[in-house]
Amino acid sequence: MVHLYGAESVILVIFSVIIVHRINKIMCNFAAMKTIKTFLVAAVLCCAGNLLAQENMKLTVKEQALVAIAANEAKGDMVGLKKALNEGFDGGLTVSEAKEALSQLYAYTGFPRSLNALGALQQVLKDREAQGLATEAGHEADALPKDYDALRQGTEVQTRLSGQPFNYTFAPQTDYYLKAHLFGDIFARNNLTFAEREIVTVSAISALPGCEPQLRAHVSGARNMGVKDEQLHEIPMVLRQRVGEAEAVRCEQAVAAVFGEPSKAVNTIDFSVWPKGEPNTGYAQYFIGNSYLAPLDAQNGGPVNVTFEPGCRNNWHIHHKQVQVLICVAGRGWYQEWGKEPVELTPGKVVAIPAEAKHWHGAARDSWMQHLTFNTRVEEGASNEWLEPVGDEWYNQLEQK
Ligand code: MN
Repeated sequence: MVHLYGAESVILVIFSVIIVHRINKIMCNFAAMKTIKTFLVAAVLCCAGNLLAQENMKLTVKEQALVAIAANEAKGDMVGLKKALNEGFDGGLTVSEAKEALSQLYAYTGFPRSLNALGALQQVLKDREAQGLATEAGHEADALPKDYDALRQGTEVQTRLSGQPFNYTFAPQTDYYLKAHLFGDIFARNNLTFAEREIVTVSAISALPGCEPQLRAHVSGARNMGVKDEQLHEIPMVLRQRVGEAEAVRCEQAVAAVFGEPSKAVNTIDFSVWPKGEPNTGYAQYFIGNSYLAPLDAQNGGPVNVTFEPGCRNNWHIHHKQVQVLICVAGRGWYQEWGKEPVELTPGKVVAIPAEAKHWHGAARDSWMQHLTFNTRVEEGASNEWLEPVGDEWYNQLEQK
């Protein structure tokens, strides 16, 4: 990736204007050339736009590479990691910095991930050498002074990061590891700055589901260690482009929480492992809101995955002479049988709907929902009977229960 500075971008803009002007001059007399002209102008503007967008990023090329490297390490995505390492090295990241980031991460993601990643780094370096690509070695960390006191220094670093003294009295051993080893031994190595280390940590924890409190603590810690607010807001963007939607959403939520900003629309089914499939046009007349169908191994009698957008539900209906099984696999929603209390659907919830029972199923008002469905005990002459819609008045009171 190219990194431009102020004066160079001005020159780039001037050049773009000149090139666009030239294209105009050469081609203005040829009506047939209009499409080619439009294409060339668009290509020049797009190219310049990309370079300027890169320049406007507050995270440097190296920092962006660290984001992608750390999150792929934590995710265990070796293909993504190798790509991120190569992009980093092409952009001036050094071997020493990459190695340091992956070594630090053992404290956050465990030795299995860290060692795998260091192995991938070794492979990348071999491949680059074979291809004759230059990779900057960088500087090794300086040796620590003889009187270096890991516990004392680490306690200072941790206090600065947390914004106040932190003492984990419940588990004194862990308190010692955090202070003397992580924030002492590891953070004392000066081939990455404290700010870079926190960018690495925030990015990695964004790829660890269920660690949201630590993620928020490190977003806040990153600010205390000198990562600028605009830079922190860019980490989710880099994650979205180079790692994945789930990682980006997790980071976006943590950044929004720390900065007291409203969380953007993060309720999405896009990172469900279950397919969304195609719009459910065939049954749309019996649904309020949009739904999607993804038949899974349908030819051999597999189930169908149904995706409901927030607020979407089907009409009251009856499955005659067959039992319908629902298995919720993502999001949150409702199942209700006529005359009975509504049942909340969350991943893992299974409902076998008796034949002849009048019922409906759908998403919660504020959440997507996916359930697998298939029919059992199907008798001769089985059919579906669609009835009245589940009105807003009825549906909206569900959340109050
Ligand atoms: Mn049904």
